[in-house]
Amino acid sequence: MTEGVKCACEAAIIGLYACAGGSNVGQMANKVAVELTKQGKGKIMCTVGIGGNVQGIIKSAEGTDEIIAIDGCPLLCAKKSLELAGFTVDKSIVITELGMKKSGSLDLQENDVKEIMAKMEDALAD
Ligand code: SF4
Repeated sequence: MTEGVKCACEAAIIGLYACAGGSNVGQMANKVAVELTKQGKGKIMCTVGIGGNVQGIIKSAEGTDEIIAIDGCPLLCAKKSLELAGFTVDKSIVITELGMKKSGSLDLQENDVKEIMAKMEDALAD
């Protein structure tokens, strides 16, 4: 196979870029990216390296088939970092738009995680 050309039967690489911000919704964005990765529905990536123009991280992003930004709030730090680096964000998901209110508390409740994960499945299916 020619290098760089993927076989159609190979699984697509879905890059999950969470903002991982310093708030409950930022941490929820990260938690969701972790859970989706464990479920095999995508791969959590190093979002901060995109903002820092770290070459290895940029290369990994170039190797994805789809880019999903998961932001905690409408400031959209992950999405904007990706776009600033020249990437097209295929899907932008914002945790506050899924019904979670932003606060400074970093403790995620189990039932909130379950609720947001259920809503994520709908958001990803759209
Ligand atoms: S999108 Fe919102 S929660 Fe996430 S890093 Fe930016 S300001 Fe923080």
